[in-house]
Amino acid sequence: MGDVADLVVVGGGAAGLACAVTAVRLGLAAVILERTDRCGSKLAVTGGGKGNFTHAEPPRAMAKKFDCDVRLTVPLLRKFPYQRIVEFFSSLGIDARTDADGCVWPVRADAAGIRDAMVRETVARGGLVKTGCRVTGLEPGWRIRLADGSIVAARNVCLATGGASYPRTGSTGDGLALCRGLGLATVDWFPALASLRTRDDLSGLAGVTQPMVEMTLLVAGSEPRTATGHFIFAHTHVSGSSVLNLCGHAARALAERKQVVLRVDWVPGRSATELAEEFAAARVGHPTRQLGTFLGSFMARRLAARLCATAGVPVDRLLAHLSRTEQESIIGQLRATEFPITGTEAIERATVTGGGVALDEVDLKTMTARRFPGLYFAGEVLDVWAETGGYNLHFAWATGIRAAESVAASRNGT
Ligand SMILES: Cc1cc2nc3c(=O)[nH]c(=O)nc-3n(C[C@H](O)[C@H](O)[C@H](O)COP(=O)(O)OP(=O)(O)OC[C@H]3O[C@@H](n4cnc5c(N)ncnc54)[C@H](O)[C@@H]3O)c2cc1C
Repeated sequence: MGDVADLVVVGGGAAGLACAVTAVRLGLAAVILERTDRCGSKLAVTGGGKGNFTHAEPPRAMAKKFDCDVRLTVPLLRKFPYQRIVEFFSSLGIDARTDADGCVWPVRADAAGIRDAMVRETVARGGLVKTGCRVTGLEPGWRIRLADGSIVAARNVCLATGGASYPRTGSTGDGLALCRGLGLATVDWFPALASLRTRDDLSGLAGVTQPMVEMTLLVAGSEPRTATGHFIFAHTHVSGSSVLNLCGHAARALAERKQVVLRVDWVPGRSATELAEEFAAARVGHPTRQLGTFLGSFMARRLAARLCATAGVPVDRLLAHLSRTEQESIIGQLRATEFPITGTEAIERATVTGGGVALDEVDLKTMTARRFPGLYFAGEVLDVWAETGGYNLHFAWATGIRAAESVAASRNGT
C-alpha cells in the first residue's frame, strides 16, 4: 500500500468513519482498513435504518446514560456536546431534527446516507478506503498484519473494530484478540442491550406489548435499578426499551451467578390508592363488567388474563363480586409483576455489546493507549456502553473525532 500512512483506521464503522473524516480534514494521510466489502453496515441499520445519531442533552446528564464512571466520560462529552455532533453532520450536508424525547435524527437522509456522506468526504479529501481487508495483528511501530499475510505500515493506528453483535455487519469481536495480542487488558464481551430470558414460559403472551411500564431490576446485594419505556413479550424473551436498558446490569449479575428478578409496574404513576379508587368507581358504574374486561382498559386482554391467573382471581369475576382481598391481589400484580430472569438473548442479536478494551488502558480525554504511543481507540471496542436513545453512536462519533484530533496534535507537537 505504498507510503507510510499518518493514520490507519482499523474498522470502517461509525467510529472509524468519523475518525477518518476528521483526519483527512486535518490534513493527515489516512487509510481505513475495513474487513467487509462495505463500510458502515451496522451504522446503516441503526434506529430501524433511520439512524438515531445523538441525543439532545447536556453533557453531565448524558454521561449518566453510560455504564461508566461519569468522571471518566464527562470531560469527553463536554468537548463533544450533542450540538457539536449535529454541526459535524451539518458540515457533511446532513441536517438534523430532534424529537420531543431528545432523540436526534437525520433529515432528508437515512442511516445509510450518513455512512455514504462520511465515505464520500474521506475519499474526496484524499483518504483511502480499503474494503475486504481484515486486520489480524498489530505490532508497535506500527505494522498492521492483514488476513492475506500482507503488512501495512502506519505512524499511528486507531482501533475501531466495534463490538461483537450483528456479526454479519462485520463486528465479530476481533478487537479483543487484537488487543490481547498486544498484551492490553480487556473485558470479555457480553450483551449490553439485549432481550432477557425469563424462567417462566411466556409464549402465550408473545406479541403482547405495553407502551409504557416502569421496571425495576432486583439483584441480590445491589441497589435496585429502574428504567421506563415500552415492554414486549417475545416467544422466549421479554424485550422493549425498558428491558434493553437494564440488560447489561442483568448480564453482569447473571455472570456472577446472582439471582435476578425483573419487577414490572404496568401502570406507572398510579398509586395503590388511586387504583383502588378506580376499582371502586368501576364497581359502582359497571357492576356487571367482568374483571378481565375492566383490566383491558390498562393492558392487552391476554396480559390481563395472566395477571388474574397469577393473582388467583377468575378473569370473569364480576366487578360487583370482587372481594377486597382479590382486588388487593390484582392491584399488587398491576404494580409489581415479577419475572425471574435466567439469561440474555445471544450476543449476536444484542444491539450493543459491553466489554472490550479495559478503560484503564486508555486516556479517554485523547483516546490514546496509555502504554502504546501511536495507538488510539474509538467506539464500541472500548469497554463502555450506553442506554438506547442515540448515545452509543454519539460515543462512536466523539471518540472517533477525538482520536483523529489527537493524532493531528501529536504530529504538530501540540
Ligand atoms: C440493530 C441496531 C440498531 C442500532 N441503533 C442505534 C441507534 O439508533 N442509535 C445509536 O446510538 N446506536 C445504535 N446502535 C448501536 C451502534 O450501531 C453501535 O454502537 C455503533 O455502530 C458502534 O460503532 P463502531 O464504529 O464502534 O462499531 P461498528 O459500527 O460495529 O463498526 C466496526 C467496523 O469494524 C470492522 N471490523 C471489525 N473487525 C475488523 C478487522 N479485524 N479488520 C478490519 N475491520 C474490522 C467491521 O466490519 C465494522 O465495519 C444500533 C445497533 C444495532 C445492531
